[in-house]
Amino acid sequence: MAQGKIGVTTENIFPVIKTFLYSDHDIFIRELVANAVDATQKVKALASSGELKEELGDLNIEIKIDKDAKTITIIDKGIGMTAEEIDNYINQIAFSSAGEFLEKYKDQIGNIIGHFGLGFYSSFMVSKKVEIDSLSWKEGANAVKWECDGNPEYNMSEGSRSERGTTITLWLDDDSSEFADENKIESLLSKYCKFMPIPIVFGKEKEWKDGKYEDTDKNHIINNCEPLWTRKPSELKDEDYLNFYKELYPMSDEPLFHIHLNVDYPFNLTGILYFPKVKDKLELSRNKIQLYCNQMFVTDSVENIVPEFMTLLHGVIDSPDIPLNVSRSYLQSDANVKKISGYITRKVTDKLEEIARDKKEEFESKWDDLKLFLEYGMITDEKFSEKVVKFALFKNTDGKYFNFEDYRKVIETEQTNKDGKVVYLYTTNPVAQYQYIEIAKNKGYDVLIMDCPLDAHYVGLLEQKIENSLFARVDSDTIDALISKENKEELKLSDDEKKKLQEQMEVLLPKENKYEVKMDNLGLNASAIIITQSEFMRRYRDMAAVGGGGMNFYNEMPIIYNITINADSPVIAKIKESEEGISADNKLLKQLTDLALLANGMLKGKELADFIRRSEELMN
Ligand code: ADP
Repeated sequence: MAQGKIGVTTENIFPVIKTFLYSDHDIFIRELVANAVDATQKVKALASSGELKEELGDLNIEIKIDKDAKTITIIDKGIGMTAEEIDNYINQIAFSSAGEFLEKYKDQIGNIIGHFGLGFYSSFMVSKKVEIDSLSWKEGANAVKWECDGNPEYNMSEGSRSERGTTITLWLDDDSSEFADENKIESLLSKYCKFMPIPIVFGKEKEWKDGKYEDTDKNHIINNCEPLWTRKPSELKDEDYLNFYKELYPMSDEPLFHIHLNVDYPFNLTGILYFPKVKDKLELSRNKIQLYCNQMFVTDSVENIVPEFMTLLHGVIDSPDIPLNVSRSYLQSDANVKKISGYITRKVTDKLEEIARDKKEEFESKWDDLKLFLEYGMITDEKFSEKVVKFALFKNTDGKYFNFEDYRKVIETEQTNKDGKVVYLYTTNPVAQYQYIEIAKNKGYDVLIMDCPLDAHYVGLLEQKIENSLFARVDSDTIDALISKENKEELKLSDDEKKKLQEQMEVLLPKENKYEVKMDNLGLNASAIIITQSEFMRRYRDMAAVGGGGMNFYNEMPIIYNITINADSPVIAKIKESEEGISADNKLLKQLTDLALLANGMLKGKELADFIRRSEELMN
């Protein structure tokens, strides 16, 4: 029996491992299974190079737990280790064999997992004692056993394995005994090892018999060794992608589109991304992309690897070229990560552009569910927005879709104002703003639907992106003021009448708001008094409501309403000519004001009751 001290610089590394190294204790299982996978891949490589003469046999990795003894055992049939190798690779912590091995066999092995310097030692996060029992593939090798009980001292002695490979046994710490639970390990294996490339056996398949589950003879394999992203896109159908999505996110709605990523130069990356239906809950959809390294799960928070808005996508990215155990800020400045992020963004944009061009109908039919994702991307990522403006769509109140260029042609003639700007009219709520939409349509104008939570910000962006454009919500002023043209007819009101109307309206309108009263010719059919809210103020209040740096003060400002009196209205003419004339006491004027307030949902309580009573009086 040999004894020795583990070659680390710190006197006792174990407390460090337990407390500081990994905040997430769960990952010990990933590290040990990854080592087992690694050793098995290596043995396959040796077999294919002809160096390993014996039959490979079944290469399954097996995980066992003993609930009573509180142990976990990981058994592989990989290359194993000789006593000398254990001394080199396990005892001299900092020394990893991966480099040495790769150098020698780099042509044969594509997928060696081995990026975690302290992988094996993470087992001490949860164990009071760890044992390695290993038999190397090398001819004439003897089985060797290594034991360590959490001190830097270890024991090495003769091992008991008679078949090539390694058995690692963990005696769990008292405060980690939860890991001896079948469900716990099953869920960890399914989180970290679900797509590892070597079959992993955890117990037997169960069947329902005589009122309880019983083990069958069949091994329970927890992983899918050939996940979809590792397969050739040409061999796959839409249905395969859909099924894989369901495997990843059993509870989610069907996705809209998918993209299969596959690049091997200048970095290695495979994966499948899905566009989910993003409704209005941006936060709920985040952190769905899973990051893998050679089929080993690493994390599901990829925010430093892809641009922020891309975290709304779902799916899998697998790349050995993303540095793993590094700080978040380092990740962002890493040259490979920047290239990867750029590549993914480009692929996503290209895919969208391709669908918009080649499958117009499909793109339109999915637009409503895609819109929020695209708007978010456009608002937060300048480069993305440059590309997306070329194929993004507008939807109008008739449910028709247009790209920006085509829409411009539709409205340009009618909706250009006297300053030469093209006015894009929109509604945020076709039901509530019905009256205003009707007025605009009767004039021959078109109205867009902008009912998405980010639209207040988006509209501002569009004004910058679309040359010579102006966006106005249909109810933000009278239609003639929104798209003001030359040659207005003279008002049918004298200066004195205008002044009186202005004064008396101030008396009649509720005191808590501010008003700007003006007169206009709106035609015989339009209402006599129309209340609107200025586009500018409303838009900023809406933006402040969704959030956005330093905008809160807009919420504090009083609302200013525009009151437009239609000089063409026959009722206004009647008021002018009546005995009381233009006065706050004139029942008709009071009635008109209340009607305008009512149309805007601003007439409440006593005022509303008075209005109803007065209406009945007027009918008598
Ligand atoms: P890494 O995997 O990053 O190299 P580890 O500390 O996890 O670091 O493992 C150190 C070395 O021990 C590995 O590189 C490998 O050579 C050897 N090793 C660990 N587990 C096994 C195993 N199950 N079979 C064969 N060799 C192993």
